[in-house]
Amino acid sequence: MADIIKAALDELSKHEVTGVEELVIVIGDLTNLGEDQMAFAYEVMTRDTILHGSRLVIEHEAIRLRCRECGFEGPADMIKNEGYGHSMPVLSCPECKGPAEVIRGMACCLRSMKVREG
Ligand SMILES: [Zn+2]
Repeated sequence: MADIIKAALDELSKHEVTGVEELVIVIGDLTNLGEDQMAFAYEVMTRDTILHGSRLVIEHEAIRLRCRECGFEGPADMIKNEGYGHSMPVLSCPECKGPAEVIRGMACCLRSMKVREG
């Protein structure tokens, strides 16, 4: 989160901006970052910056796997984990159960900003 805010502030410092309305970030489902935690961290970390008071919009990036064995490419199977109330991704190939490479779902980055210019 700190890196995202730093990237946003760096970008904003290059422009004549009087305020920020909205900040859109992308969070991969594999990062296990909770939305509430992110929103709270954002609120705290932007307190004394131009980002203060802007709306944080969180977009999710689904997990996508690629298998080196059979060439499968697609979403990961999910295991329902009743105890924790959320699903866990299976990081092996759904087709041949071979080792799969995660090609999407680990993002944690800034996508766009809506700003007010002076
Ligand atoms: Zn496979």
